[in-house]
This record gives sequence, structure tokens and C-alpha cells, in this order.
Amino acid sequence: MTDFSSFGLAEPITRALAGQGYTSPTPIQADVIPAMLEGRDILGIAQTGTGKTASFVLPMLQALAKSDGLRRPKHSPALVLAPTRELAQQIADNAQAYSQFMAVSVTVVVGGVKPGRQIKALARGVDIIVATPGRLLDHMESGALSLADTKMVVLDEADQMLDLGFVPAIRRIMGKLPKKRQTVMMSATMPKQIRKLAADFQVNPKEVAVAAVSRPIERIEQSVMHVPAPQKKEALAAYLAPIKDRRAIVFARTKRGADRVSKHLDARGVSSAAIHGNKSQPQRQKALDAFKAGQTS
Ligand code: AMP
Repeated sequence: MTDFSSFGLAEPITRALAGQGYTSPTPIQADVIPAMLEGRDILGIAQTGTGKTASFVLPMLQALAKSDGLRRPKHSPALVLAPTRELAQQIADNAQAYSQFMAVSVTVVVGGVKPGRQIKALARGVDIIVATPGRLLDHMESGALSLADTKMVVLDEADQMLDLGFVPAIRRIMGKLPKKRQTVMMSATMPKQIRKLAADFQVNPKEVAVAAVSRPIERIEQSVMHVPAPQKKEALAAYLAPIKDRRAIVFARTKRGADRVSKHLDARGVSSAAIHGNKSQPQRQKALDAFKAGQTS
């Protein structure tokens, strides 16, 4: 079996991995890490849960460990594009954890928050930018950021970006990157349009596919309760109240519906938080953090 030491990663990286309790690479890491270290482009079919984030972050950190460490204002050597603000934050959190023993700066550039702090961070120059496409373009257009030095770029969850209509933004961003660069694309599925993007932006990519670790659906017990519409909220509160110490996610059809359900659950003593596109980014993050910490059920 491969282990992390066979990749020749810098000591601070392997120390951080040991600290995370990682003993051996996951299958996607075993395929992607050596190929990226050789400078290859990667086209990966991989879902969340496979360890795909570390597969592209670790080679990025290795490249940074080997560089002179000088930062050029308003420039960055490495960029990760993600479809959602939450995913961008999660990738940045991982990058920070893996680089905790290195002097690497990671900046999240996403919409929904004031741009001032991002502009300040970019002005100093950062090692890794993790961004959603819209806000990144804003900074490029206002002159806060140039991608002229960005030699490594990752498109994570490319199929989600396609579904969210980000392809034109991605094309504009890719057009500003140097021609000589390393391009990694990760996608859970590989529809034709993603293949087309890959063909347009990559050179002879190594293709990597890993099976989903386990399909959650197989581990979930499913049942249906038929309830007349006016009694739905009561039935939901009655169903959730006894399972207080476990956590639950309720999906609603509309944003206002989600707010109504959440209010009703709170009134019935089931603490909850609504999360949707009309909430501010700090509110969304707070709701997620509370959920993770078990403060909302
Ligand atoms: P991802 O697919 O990137 O979202 O990663 C899924 C989870 O696997 C994350 O919680 C990682 O911290 C964890 N993980 C990634 N690589 C390894 C590894 N080699 N050994 C153990 N856990 C890992």
C-alpha cells in the first residue's frame, strides 16, 4: 500500500497529515498526488467523501514549499474555484489545516460579504485563493487582483458550477490565466459540457475516476408519512421532538416555507435554523456551525 511518505512531500506537510490522523492516502490521493507533482493536468471524477480536497491541496502546498515564498501584491500562484461559498470555506479550512506548519496564506474570496477585507488581503499577495467565480471576477475587473502569475488552478465540483450557470464566468477567468499552467478539474459526474471545458482548458490530462465511497442512500432508512397539508407542520414537530439529541435536515420547497417551518419548530421547542439564498453569508455560516456543533437539532 502507498503511504504519504512515498510522495516526497515536505516535512511540515507530512507532520500536519499525521496530526490529522491520516495514515494512508485514499485511492484518489494515490492517483492524483504523484501526477500533480509531475505537473500533469488532472480530470478527476470524484465525489465528496473520497478525500479529493487533499488530493489537490497537498501538491499545491508542495509547490509552495518549494517556491521562494515571496508574495507579489495583488497576485497569487494558486487558485481554487468552487461553486458555493460554503464549499470554498471548507476547502480553505482544509488548506489551512494541512499548511499549519508552513507560512502559507489562504484567502477566501466569495460573495455575500463586504469586499473590503478580501481587497486588503489580495493587496498583500496571497499563496492560495479559494473563490466562487462571481466575486473573483469582480476583484479582477476592479484591479484588486491579477491572475497573471497563477500557475495552478483547480475547478472543484465542476458539474455543480455548470448547473449554477457559472460556465461563462469560468471561461472569462480561465482566459486571464497564463497559458503555461497546471489545470485540475474535479467533478462528481462527467456530462458532455464538462468534457468540453476540459478539452478547452487542459493539456493531455490524466483521467482519474474513483467510485463513491458508499452511497448514503444505502445506509438510510426511508419511510413516508401521508399528512394533509394543514397538519404538516404539527406532524413534523411531533416527529422531530422525541429525537432531540440527534440532528435532522428538513427540506422545504421555498425560502419562505423554510422560514415558516423553522419558526414553527422553534415554537414547539425544537431548536432550528433556516438556511437559504436570502440569508446573509454570516447567517448561513452561523447556522451551519451551530448545526455541526449540535446547537441546533
Ligand atoms: P473530501 O472528499 O475532500 O471532502 O474529504 C472527505 C473527508 O476525508 C474529510 O473529512 C477529510 O478530512 C478526510 N480525509 C481526506 N484524506 C484522508 C486520508 N488520507 N485519511 C483519512 N481521512 C482523510
